Amino acid sequence: MKLIFRDANFIDVKTGSIVTGRSLVVVNGVITDVTSRPGRGESVSMNGGFVLPGLMDAHVHLVWEGQSDPNRHTLSEAVPMTALRAVRSAWRNLCGGVTFVRDVGGPHQVPVSLARAVDAGIVDGCGILAAGAPVCQTGGHVHTMCREADGPDEVRKAVREQIKSGAHLVKLMCSGGAYTEGESIHAVQFTVDEIRAAVEEAHVSERRTAVHALPEQAIQNCLEAGADTIEHAVFLSDRNIETFCKTNAFMVPTLAPYYLMAVYGLERGVPKYAVEKSRDVMEHYADSLHRADSAGVRLALGTDAGSPALPHPAVPFESWLWTAVARLEPLKVLRAATWGSARALGLEDKAGHLDPGCAGDFVAYGSNPLEDITVLHAPRAVFKAGRRVAGGSSTWSQIYLGKNKTRL
Ligand SMILES: [Zn+2]
Repeated sequence: MKLIFRDANFIDVKTGSIVTGRSLVVVNGVITDVTSRPGRGESVSMNGGFVLPGLMDAHVHLVWEGQSDPNRHTLSEAVPMTALRAVRSAWRNLCGGVTFVRDVGGPHQVPVSLARAVDAGIVDGCGILAAGAPVCQTGGHVHTMCREADGPDEVRKAVREQIKSGAHLVKLMCSGGAYTEGESIHAVQFTVDEIRAAVEEAHVSERRTAVHALPEQAIQNCLEAGADTIEHAVFLSDRNIETFCKTNAFMVPTLAPYYLMAVYGLERGVPKYAVEKSRDVMEHYADSLHRADSAGVRLALGTDAGSPALPHPAVPFESWLWTAVARLEPLKVLRAATWGSARALGLEDKAGHLDPGCAGDFVAYGSNPLEDITVLHAPRAVFKAGRRVAGGSSTWSQIYLGKNKTRL
């Protein structure tokens, strides 16, 4: 089936230029042409809207829904209930213009199964790449959701188990974090040898590794062990930035959960330990992201959607934070949320831009997001494989924009 999308301002996220006077041609769900001579087919007017490739969130947890303490829900409820929450999260992402996500950890192989269900058309939702259970050291970050393993051999086995279960990537916890009680965000977890074993094992099976690392030594360990994407990367040193630029690794910043926990966490009932650690994170995070961007570190946009106080979808809010708090230009943010994430996930041939060969996943907005990134909160229409998504709608997070609390 051939569809011709006309009367639009197509945004080229690689250059920032806007293409008008041409039509986007989608055949059987895939973009085949951007042309002024589209030929015959079913015509769809975009009514002069601004069109971006579908947004891609490189760091989410679909089983969590941004409750005050989401992991507590997961631990206390039946597995089918957790799976149903994940289905709803995938649908909410899609409706908010996030057509693809990378799930970096959920229990019982729920995200892996959901990814298959979406691909098979069993449920509607965003496309998904999914890790299985994250691998952490005994008592490591969010260990109640992880496969605990110690020593290179056991870590290797844990990685093999995830791949056996169908994981598309391997997630490792290499430092403490905000959302685990009694754990310092500065704690380094796993040795370089353990991380290296995991990375090697993932790579021989053609899987990438996503590593949770907040403090500078953990970031350095992960970069030196050859990890593919460094998640969070809060306390970024000049040495980290230098090493980043020598590798192919991507930094996946996730400001939103820490910001919301720091500013609104207590009134939302988020555990106090997480609020306090998030405040520490937010004292450094904007500066780290700004310096990384200035130095040319490759960025993919993640959010940690589902974490305490952060429902799905979170890309619109995260994007706004990058401009408002870390002072990045909107083009750089939009590029990270599309082309950057696609490259970090190894999907640059089929997602993250509007060139032939890509899936027909795109989002139309009423005005230009390069001029005002807050328009991401209200997509006019969302398309997946060329098909209009029924529920395209405003996102929850626009309630925060008027408050304009860019300083803590
Ligand atoms: Zn996470």
